[in-house]
Amino acid sequence: MNQLANQIAVVTGAGRGIGRAIALQFAAAGADVVCVSRTAENSEKTAGEIRALGRKAWAHAVDVADGAAVAAAAEAILAEAGRVDILVNNAGITRDGLILRMSEADWDAVVDTNLKGAFFFIKAFSRAFLKQRSGRILNISSVSALMGIAGQSNYSASKAGVIGLTRAVAREFASRGVTVNALAPGFIETDMTAVLTAEMKGDIAQRIPLGRLGRPEDIAEAALFLAGPGAGYITGQVLTVDGGLVM
Ligand code: NDP
Repeated sequence: MNQLANQIAVVTGAGRGIGRAIALQFAAAGADVVCVSRTAENSEKTAGEIRALGRKAWAHAVDVADGAAVAAAAEAILAEAGRVDILVNNAGITRDGLILRMSEADWDAVVDTNLKGAFFFIKAFSRAFLKQRSGRILNISSVSALMGIAGQSNYSASKAGVIGLTRAVAREFASRGVTVNALAPGFIETDMTAVLTAEMKGDIAQRIPLGRLGRPEDIAEAALFLAGPGAGYITGQVLTVDGGLVM
């Protein structure tokens, strides 16, 4: 199915994990994709995989927490791709630790990347979205925002912020036909969760009604739905994709 035929999608954090899976899924659905990640190596790699699928792809190495760099990249993207139909704010990091010992640097790094990065990208493309009177914005939150996870006060706060950002911008953009939604993944098998031991993963899986951790493709399927033609009447929502962990 070519649900995203002739669409241009920008995916941040497309170099690995969930962002890579979303970028590939969108390309398989007919989109041309701009792959943004922190390193040129990883954004180029995913862009190469997309070209191998017969779609156009562009790669950009951008630190999403750097407002000037994001603005410059957005300008370059609009010049090379012509427009943007779908923006996925997926780039994210963790710097876990109990709040008693959490440094200001770890707080700032996580909030600046996960929350401010989404703000910078939405702002950078907002004029283009509002002018074309259509578009989809997806922000990747987390179950950590919904349930709170000990040792993740910075991360939970940043991801809860993403939900507030999603709802406020959904209201601002609704009259122009631009929808803004969030996805809240549960525990997904990527480099981010590779630090968990097999025992910890087993314990987590026991708490998940569907009995397993998620795969990046599980999130990409939900992202495709929210970015596709079937989700035109959905905005300001948080779709939890977590095997039933939070309900
Ligand atoms: P990974 O660590 O596997 O990949 C993170 C991606 O984000 C990489 O491509 C990385 O770039 C990019 N990135 C990180 N920091 C920056 C930055 N400052 N500027 C630009 N790009 C950056 O993470 P996941 O795929 O697991 O996570 C993706 C998103 O999903 C994140 O927002 C995360 O918080 C969220 N999430 C993940 C869950 C999980 O269990 N894995 C659960 C819930 C939410 P590069 O490849 O160049 O290093």
